[in-house]
Amino acid sequence: MLRLSGKSVYKGIALGPVVVLKPHDQQIKRETVEDADGEIFRLGRAGAQARSQLQELYDKAVKEVGKAGAAIFEVHQMLLEDEDYLEAIHNMIRTELVNAEYAVAVTGDNFAEMFGNMDDDYMKARAADIKDISNRLVRNLTGDEEIDFASMEPAIIVANDLSPSETVQMDKEKILGFVTVHGSTNSHTAILARMMNIPALIGVPMELDKIHTGMTAIVDGFNGKAVFEPTEELCREAQMRMREEEEKRQLLKNLKGKKNVTLDGREINIYANIGNVGDIGYALENDAGGIGLFRSEFLYIGKIDFPTEEEQFQAYKKVVQNMAGKKVIIRTLDIGADKQADYFDLGKEENPALGYRAIRICLKQKSIFKTQLRALFRAAVFGDMSIMYPMIISTQEVLQIYRIVDEVEAELAKEGVPYKVPEQGIMIETPAAVMISEELAQMVDFFSIGTNDLTQYTLAIDRQNAKLDDFYNPHHTAILRMIQIVVDSAHKYGKWAGICGELGADPELTEKFVRMGVDELSVSPSMILKLRKIVREMYVSSDKGQMGKGQTINKETEED
Ligand code: PEP
Ligand code: MG
Repeated sequence: MLRLSGKSVYKGIALGPVVVLKPHDQQIKRETVEDADGEIFRLGRAGAQARSQLQELYDKAVKEVGKAGAAIFEVHQMLLEDEDYLEAIHNMIRTELVNAEYAVAVTGDNFAEMFGNMDDDYMKARAADIKDISNRLVRNLTGDEEIDFASMEPAIIVANDLSPSETVQMDKEKILGFVTVHGSTNSHTAILARMMNIPALIGVPMELDKIHTGMTAIVDGFNGKAVFEPTEELCREAQMRMREEEEKRQLLKNLKGKKNVTLDGREINIYANIGNVGDIGYALENDAGGIGLFRSEFLYIGKIDFPTEEEQFQAYKKVVQNMAGKKVIIRTLDIGADKQADYFDLGKEENPALGYRAIRICLKQKSIFKTQLRALFRAAVFGDMSIMYPMIISTQEVLQIYRIVDEVEAELAKEGVPYKVPEQGIMIETPAAVMISEELAQMVDFFSIGTNDLTQYTLAIDRQNAKLDDFYNPHHTAILRMIQIVVDSAHKYGKWAGICGELGADPELTEKFVRMGVDELSVSPSMILKLRKIVREMYVSSDKGQMGKGQTINKETEED
C-alpha cells in the first residue's frame, strides 16, 4: 500500500483501477549507438506498426465521422512515407550514431518548425501533424502504449501533468478521478475536473515508475489523499463514503425546480460553466438556469486545425437548442497562455499570461475572429444566446470589436444568411477593466467577472504556478472591493453583473455576493444546487436576518 498527499481540486471520492498516462511530449534521451543499421531496422518496424495503427484509426473514423473527417489519418500515413522526413532521420542515425527515438524526435521538431514558418496556412497546420506522427513513432519505439480512451474501462488517471487539451479529449464517463504530480489549483485542467465532478488531486509527489496501470487506487478529494493498492478495509470505507456522498447529492436534488430566491425575496441567477457541448447534460441534470460561460476555445484545442465556421455553427446551435430557451452565454475564443493549440503557432513567450492571448489574438488575426462571429450570429437565431469577450482592457478594444461585428453583420446580410447579433457583454478580468468599468458599462450589455484571471492580474500571481498556490488568495480584500466596483458600475447604467470565475462557486462567499448585488453566479454544474440551498436559507437585509428564519414572509417560497 502506498499513501500520498496532494492538493485537492474537487471534493469527492473515487475507487477503481489506475491507468498511468505517459506524456506525449516526453523527454527523449540522446544515446550513442554502435549499430546504426539495427536502429534503422527498429525504425522500420515502428513505422510498419504506425501504418497499421493509422489504418485502424482511419477505418474507425470513417464509420464514426465519415470519409472527410477521417482524411487526417490518410494525411498522417502520407507524411509517414515522406522521403525527406525519413531520409533526415536515417542520416542523423548514421552520421551522429544516435538512437532512433532521438533522431525521430529531433527531426520531428525540425520539420514541425519548418512547416510552422511557412506562409501557406495549410502547410503551417501540418506542423502539428508532423509532431503527431513523430510522437507515434517514438511511442512505438519505446514501447509506451497509447491509451485508447474509447475502449478503456472507467479508471483513475495517473499522470505527470495533464494539459487542458488532453483533459478535454477524455471521455468523461470513463474517468473516475485524476492524480497528477504537477498542476496548480487554478489551472484549466483543475477547472475541468471540477466541472466534470471528478475527484482530483494535483501536486502528488509520485514516482511514476512505481505506479502501474491496473493497480487499484482510492482518490480522496476531501482529505487530499491518494492510496495505491489499498487494504480491503480501506476499500470498504471508501465505498461507504461514496454511498454517503451519493445520498447527499440525492437530498440536494429536492431543490431541483426551485428558484434561487432569498428568504426576503431577492432572486439571483445561478448558471453553469461548460467547456463543450457534451457538458450540457451536467448543466441540465443540475438544474442550471442557463449557461453563464461556454469556454468556446475548447472547440479549438485538442484539434489539429481550426474548426470551420460550419463546425462551430453546429456546436453553438446545439447548445442553444438543447438549453431550450434558457440563456446561453458563449465566450469568444480565449486561447493562449495555458490553453494552446499547435496550429495557432503562437510561439514561445516569456510571460504567456501577459502575452498574446484571447481578444488580442482575435483583434490581430481578424479572420479567425470573423469566422467565429459568423458561426455565433448564425446560431443565435436558434435560442437565447449572448456572447462575451475575454480579457478586455480598454474602451478602444470594444469599439474595435464592434467594427468587426458590423463587418460580419453586413457580410451575412449581403449573403442572405439568417443571423442575429446577440447581446454582447465583456468579461472583467483585468484591473484596467475594473477601473474603467463605468465607461465600459455604457458600451456593453452586461459584465461577467472572471475572478480567476482578475486574481492573477491583481495579485501579480501566475495562476499556473503551483508554488504560488498559497499566495493566490481570491478572498483578498482587493478582489472583493473590485467586484463591488464592477457591480455598482453595471447597475449605475442599468446593466447586470455576474461572476463566472471559480470564486463564484465558493459557498463561503455566496451570501456576501448576493448582498453585494451580484446578479448572476456561473459555476461548475455540481455547485448549482449547493449554492441554491444557501441562497434560499439567507436574508439579504441584516435586520431581517436577526428576526430568525420563518418570521419573514417569502411569497415565492410559499408558492414553490
Ligand atoms: C476567469 O478568468 O475567471 C475565467 C472565467 O476565465 P478562464 O478561467 O477560462 O480564464
Ligand atoms: Mg479568464
